[in-house]
Amino acid sequence: MRLPDPALVVLVGASGSGKSTWAAERYRPQEVVSSDALRGVVGSGNHDLDASVDAFAILEQVVAARVGRGLCTVVDTLGLDAGRRTSWLALARQAGLPAVAVVLATPEADCRRRNAARDVPVPAPALAGQLRRMRTVAEELATEGWEVVVTTEGAASQGAAAEEQVVARPAPVADTRDRRTSAGVEVVLQVSRFPWGEDPAGWLTGIALEADRLGFAGIALMDHLVQIPQVGRAWEPIPEPYVTLGLLAGLDTRLRLGTLVTPMTLRPAGVVAKAVATLDALSGGRAFVGVGAGWWEREHAGFGVPFPGARERLDLLEDGIETMRALWSPGTKAWHGTRAALPETTCYPRPVGPVPVIVGGSGERRTLRIAARLGDACNLPSDPAVLAAKTAVLHAHCSDVGRDPAEVAVTVLDLPVVGHDRGDAWRRVERLRGRTAAASYAARHHAAPAPAHAERYAALAEQHGVSTVFLGLPDLDSADDLERVAPLLA
Ligand code: GDP
Ligand code: MG
Repeated sequence: MRLPDPALVVLVGASGSGKSTWAAERYRPQEVVSSDALRGVVGSGNHDLDASVDAFAILEQVVAARVGRGLCTVVDTLGLDAGRRTSWLALARQAGLPAVAVVLATPEADCRRRNAARDVPVPAPALAGQLRRMRTVAEELATEGWEVVVTTEGAASQGAAAEEQVVARPAPVADTRDRRTSAGVEVVLQVSRFPWGEDPAGWLTGIALEADRLGFAGIALMDHLVQIPQVGRAWEPIPEPYVTLGLLAGLDTRLRLGTLVTPMTLRPAGVVAKAVATLDALSGGRAFVGVGAGWWEREHAGFGVPFPGARERLDLLEDGIETMRALWSPGTKAWHGTRAALPETTCYPRPVGPVPVIVGGSGERRTLRIAARLGDACNLPSDPAVLAAKTAVLHAHCSDVGRDPAEVAVTVLDLPVVGHDRGDAWRRVERLRGRTAAASYAARHHAAPAPAHAERYAALAEQHGVSTVFLGLPDLDSADDLERVAPLLA
């Protein structure tokens, strides 16, 4: 069972029950606040009972500070004082952190034996008192309001360690079967930064070949004229996507290739239709296209491209999809859409097959209506609460325009921080977060090792019907970075 993370985790167990060991196997040292360790800081050593009052004063301060920042905090004390437990619980509530109690229900004889083996054992009568209180603590915890109460026997922790080792094994390389995870999601690698050094084509080729080997379903590129501030600096390279996808189409892979998303303000829709049809022809039918209304005024101004108001941009999106579909249809006859019209539809090469059109954006009044009316898919944020709200609106539009909601696939953009392990995930957060508070950055990017992300994707599929996750790694520097994501594709 995976515990909520971040969380306030309060350990409850007699001396020698294995609390500190349990915590050390699962959390970073900085996340564990230990009364014994603080006795060592302010007293003569970890077992200096005379230092208890000072040690607990500091412990309370550290717990309050960490929990107040929304940081994962493991309280390593006996955990037998109900008053302290309820005050920690209140801190967690206030900070919106889930509160977990972990009961180390190690057999009493084991606690006694391990205690006796210590350099400085707890006096036998004190241990006996702890063990007596342990017999009723489960009942107390049940009424205190913990989100999760876990009971574990000391020995179980060795099983957990073994499990963690399994997770760290290199993932099997995918074969050429259908590229969906066991939860039925396909994962497309979204590439938004291009730290390619002196070798742009080599870097891109390396990423694509490795993504294909590992079992990604495709590659999606951003379509911007200037690197966007959410991702990098304006002077960092951001290649023209259709030229770049042409390079990738020439590689021997099964990757689907497309943009996420093309602002319909940048090129006339017919020219986009031409590029996408060409990409589909060159790649043997692997093209898709993400489309949006455009939002970044600066890149338009800087390239001499008009940037009309929101209503007109949404018109361009809506008419643009119709225009592309007209140009991809058989024949050359004139076409009259709801607003736009073409005197002929002579566009060769045709796409090999139907090209999926993914409508990006979550504007409820129009963007989602356009997705409902004309999209093969929508692209929404991966936050479950936002996703639930947006899909409800999408489906309302579907029923309004008489479209079967099953015809509009739900896709999400997810930007996870994926660590080899907890410590690695946290180091990445510290490196990436800039001026954002660590806890909010970690939460927004779900910082964790790959298995936690795999569970999240399975939940997105099961609870929200997500068919495709576009996965953008905030720290994709080279092809080597993809391996640690591979367990997500299993
Ligand atoms: P705490 O007093 O509850 O924090 O207990 P510790 O984590 O310090 O563990 C006490 C002793 O028990 C140490 O010598 C540990 O190495 C040992 N220990 C802890 N967990 C286990 C376990 O799961 N199995 C075994 N065999 N020994 C353990
Ligand atoms: Mg301990």
